[in-house]
Amino acid sequence: ATANGPLLTVSNLTKLFGSFAACNEINLQIDQGEIHALLGENGAGKSTLVKMLFGVLAPTVGEIVWQGRSVRIASPAAARKLGIGMVFQHFSLFEALTVAENIALSMDGNISLAEVAEEASRLSHAYGLPLDPKAHVADLSVGERQRIEIVRALLQNPRLIILDEPTSVLTPQEADRLFETLNKLKAEGRSVLYISHRLEEVQRICDRATVLRHGKVTGACDPKVETPASLARMMVGSDVAAV
Ligand code: ADP
Ligand code: MG
Repeated sequence: ATANGPLLTVSNLTKLFGSFAACNEINLQIDQGEIHALLGENGAGKSTLVKMLFGVLAPTVGEIVWQGRSVRIASPAAARKLGIGMVFQHFSLFEALTVAENIALSMDGNISLAEVAEEASRLSHAYGLPLDPKAHVADLSVGERQRIEIVRALLQNPRLIILDEPTSVLTPQEADRLFETLNKLKAEGRSVLYISHRLEEVQRICDRATVLRHGKVTGACDPKVETPASLARMMVGSDVAAV
């Protein structure tokens, strides 16, 4: 979709849980500087796929090529080192600690708490997601907690940032703010893998969409030129969406 070439190519990626294929021979390419949607209903395999890209789950079969090199991503730390950041659907934050303390816990230790606080504050404002590094997580809204996760990912200067159903916990105003942030990341040449089951969002902000159903890719398209009905058909099957 873009002239910038592939950042990440996934071939034949499969994840079995017992004999059940949560992801089944998935092929996917993410280019540099694009916002790429992973679109699918609940249970389609979206979270399982991105957990393999972030080193949370090991693929059963298949290959991940990152910047032209075949890689095995053994852990989230390994993913971060490659330049992959992730914002999970369910946050892992310590309620009793401050924003800066939470972020510092995921850094490798060569940076002081004061430096983490300063850099987190700077990045959060630069990306339109303001945070007070001294605030306690317990006092923050869910939208603000998500900002911590995004800033934590940005501190690693990622080439690719993955967001798993980020708007499911946001107000419409917070979602608009997030979309501005994603467009800024794109303008910087970073790539975004944006997971959603909401067609209107994907049509609004994404350059490409890969559609999953029952663990398989059912389509890859430019969502802006598709109709909602054609996207829905890829998501749920022609039988259901033929209305
Ligand atoms: P999505 O994120 O698209 O809603 P998931 O990737 O979470 O879908 O799940 C895909 C399918 O794999 C679902 O049927 C889910 O129940 C199953 N699944 C996910 N994780 C596990 C697991 N750890 N063990 C067994 N089944 C799982
Ligand atoms: Mg999911």
